[in-house]
Amino acid sequence: MDDFSLLLDLHRRNYRQGPGGDAQTELAITLAGLNRKQPLKLADIGCGTGASTLCLARHLNAEITAVDFLPDFLESLKQQAESEDHSGRIETLEASMEELPFSENAYDVLWAEGAIYNMGFQNGIENWKRFLKPGGILVASEITWLTHDRPDEIQAHWNREYPEIDVASAKIGQLEAAGYSPIGYFTLPESCWLENYYAPLKDGFEAFLERNGNTDTAEAIVASELAEIELFEKFKAFYSYGVYIARKS
Ligand code: SAH
Repeated sequence: MDDFSLLLDLHRRNYRQGPGGDAQTELAITLAGLNRKQPLKLADIGCGTGASTLCLARHLNAEITAVDFLPDFLESLKQQAESEDHSGRIETLEASMEELPFSENAYDVLWAEGAIYNMGFQNGIENWKRFLKPGGILVASEITWLTHDRPDEIQAHWNREYPEIDVASAKIGQLEAAGYSPIGYFTLPESCWLENYYAPLKDGFEAFLERNGNTDTAEAIVASELAEIELFEKFKAFYSYGVYIARKS
């Protein structure tokens, strides 16, 4: 198996493919001021296996389009949606977040947890805005510096991995400049990383290596995930995901 198929094999079995939490998805619903009874048209972009999609389906009266470019993730989401009796309200869509086949002014809410970085925050907020109805809500989580000053090691790491990382005030300024009114912001607590994302990932390493015959490539993937976890444990005071909630103005 190549690197990509191995990564897919490692991550598709997990409930989440990135840091997050049901309590934080619910907090974002509250801060967004979404009416839980009102019919809403919502798209969850970069939904993975659907942790946020399913949480949104449980709490809102929404017709949800769950978008990802990986069909395997969408298949897991479909199965879970069926087992929770939500399949009538969740439609999966295999598409690139950079070329969404949506009509203009079509959605009340666009949601993206741990995903917008794949096309870049600036690019995403500009590109997706046309799909929101006037007054529609964008909720996006994005890697964010928690402090003004950072140790060189972590600064250099993120400059390499995702140079768009910035402090919340800068991200909020980008939203304003792109024609949104920011209405809420909070950061994901470390439990969203360590308990909800990294712990289940770590628990799966042994079985993953066994399934894949302990090849060097599989070992390298585990080593790289472990390095990421170690980095977070060392520098978690300096970065997290920020959750940005904004209204199309
Ligand atoms: N929202 C989920 C998944 C986050 S991981 C969660 O919080 O658990 C990021 C997701 O974005 C992955 O499922 C990945 O397949 C998807 N993705 C990455 N690039 C993409 C692109 N260009 N178009 C659509 N989906 C993409």
